[in-house]
Amino acid sequence: MIQLVRGFRDILPGEAMVWQQVEQAARDRFECFGFSEIRTPVIEQTALFKRSIGEDTDIVEKEMYTFPGSKDTLLTLRPEATASVVRAYIQHKLYAADPVRKLYSIGPMFRRERPQKGRYRQFSQINAEVFGIESPYMDAQLIYMLTRFLDALDVPGLRVHLNSLGCPECRNGYRDALRAVFSGKTDRLCSDCVRRIDRNPLRLLDCKVPGCREVAADAPSMADFLCADCDAHFKTVTAGLDAMGVAYERDPRLVRGLDYYTRTTFEIQTDALGAQSAVAGGGRYDGLVEQLGGPSVPAVGFAIGMDRLVELVMAAQPVLLRPPAVFFAAMGAEAWKRAFQWAGELSDQGIRVEIDFSERSLKALMRRADRLGAQFVLIVGERELEEKTVSLRHMATKAQTAVPVDNLVAVVKEKIWESGV
Ligand code: ATP
Ligand code: MG
Repeated sequence: MIQLVRGFRDILPGEAMVWQQVEQAARDRFECFGFSEIRTPVIEQTALFKRSIGEDTDIVEKEMYTFPGSKDTLLTLRPEATASVVRAYIQHKLYAADPVRKLYSIGPMFRRERPQKGRYRQFSQINAEVFGIESPYMDAQLIYMLTRFLDALDVPGLRVHLNSLGCPECRNGYRDALRAVFSGKTDRLCSDCVRRIDRNPLRLLDCKVPGCREVAADAPSMADFLCADCDAHFKTVTAGLDAMGVAYERDPRLVRGLDYYTRTTFEIQTDALGAQSAVAGGGRYDGLVEQLGGPSVPAVGFAIGMDRLVELVMAAQPVLLRPPAVFFAAMGAEAWKRAFQWAGELSDQGIRVEIDFSERSLKALMRRADRLGAQFVLIVGERELEEKTVSLRHMATKAQTAVPVDNLVAVVKEKIWESGV
């Protein structure tokens, strides 16, 4: 039998229902804050990701699914969403009427990482991006929105980690300080990090190799290098979070795996997922729109890892498939035909129905209805059809009512309504 490709996954019905709930909760919450949905393709020109995510990142160096397109272009399955959303914002001049745009999107991303629990080669994200607002209150509002969304899902043990990476100017001083520390410790660093010391020493702070983590733990803190403007910006972010009662931990070594971040960066972390601690991450990327050929527009956003979040939600609550409201225990050709019509009419009223078309005894049909958790069973046999009444059984109370066939849909609907589901 041909099996699933390693690093990819099937989302089976029980879990898929939780995905729907999480997606709907995000849509509802984000739309309260003025976000609208954008859908971009999963394939983009490779150059888009190279220019935005950065040439020295793990993603661009080794994780992208890249293949030849037409002519000389290379194409890549998107490893993240922000670059595509920025491209669309520029390409369709979404800034023309008003530079402020709040966009969200939901969909799969692709990275050729080493597959393990919580780390897949296709995974899904919910992304939110805000364009055109430089105010630190926007950063705080975005983090507030994200944490309220997570709170509503009742996932325990999530922490907000917060840092500022400063602007390109003040970060230069920090880079120099990191280089000075790291270049004396190359014997303890992985080969990627040694190679990146010169070009991009911040990458080392995000390396997951244990030796590099130890070295990173003693690295200088960006907080000591922020310029006055960046410092003031960050202070307003934290004051905004304090005002809204959002708890956070300052994490001076939080850098994130993409190069485009400036100033505020944050991550939602948990201890409940083993080695994979990040549930969501984001931050400001004030230079990216201009860098990709658009106007100079500040921006801030985040991405939620759906696979990890759903795993946490499922650990906190049992997953139950929605049972049918009405199960038709129909026996015989004539009964199937009538039940088939009634089921259609009930479904038109928004009622969940299930019919068993197999030739089974009433006892076996009742057992199946029970197993599915059906709320009501309609017993339809040849005799019931002759007498023009069928029995409606309420499974929880075992109460049985005779329902006239001429008025079946209305009566069943009323019974369901009375029973309060
Ligand atoms: P990590 O530190 O775990 O590698 P990341 O910093 O690479 O995460 P981002 O690029 O910021 O992650 O993506 C945002 C979120 O997407 C992460 O917080 C995580 O929940 C999820 N995510 C990232 N990569 C994967 C993956 N390979 N499989 C499943 N989820 C992922
Ligand atoms: Mg990663």
